[in-house]
Amino acid sequence: MKNLFEIYYLVGLVIGSAIRRIGSLKSGKEKPAYRQAITDTLFVTLTGLGMFMPLLYFLTSWLNFANYSSPVWVNYIGVIIFPLGIWLLWRSYIDLNKNWSPTLEIQKDHVLVTSGVFHYLRHPMYLAYLLWAIAQAVLIANWIAGPAMLCFLIPLCFYRIPREEKMMLEKFGEQYRSYINRTGRLFPKINN
Ligand code: SAH
Repeated sequence: MKNLFEIYYLVGLVIGSAIRRIGSLKSGKEKPAYRQAITDTLFVTLTGLGMFMPLLYFLTSWLNFANYSSPVWVNYIGVIIFPLGIWLLWRSYIDLNKNWSPTLEIQKDHVLVTSGVFHYLRHPMYLAYLLWAIAQAVLIANWIAGPAMLCFLIPLCFYRIPREEKMMLEKFGEQYRSYINRTGRLFPKINN
């Protein structure tokens, strides 16, 4: 019998997955003009597997050896940040529209988005996933299923963000450089 916090995570997983599904339908359909590395795809796949690791924990007893009990205040961190992450994910999909892509790509009619949540930070979607992954880690009281997404997502962000920004700079030049100057990567720039 799983606790209420874990059920909460499961509900969030279903809602977040639905948003991912709907959001990705908008992806640019044309063949991208720029495509990149297999390493990126590998990290994305591992992060995705980590995201669904709690299902293994829910449906089997294989991971039970790694169960622990956490203080309730830790669980409440997840209760607060999971909906924030899901909201931010939804907003990011809406703002990016068909410029979104699962890996690093420049679409044929790619436009630089600097409005909506992108007005404040350059990588709201990655922040959304980081919030989701932290929520998973604090809501699922299992040393494997809990941090499974976070431990692949962090290297993915380290790998991807500099490459994505380099790609965007090549494509948008000065326009992206001035966007960098007025925004933060994962958190809004305060001293503007
Ligand atoms: N890093 C962003 C977008 C993730 S989706 C975020 O975290 O919200 C990845 C794709 O989005 C990349 O292939 C890139 O082509 C595109 N992208 C990233 N930032 C963008 C922007 N400001 N405007 C338009 N497209 C962008």
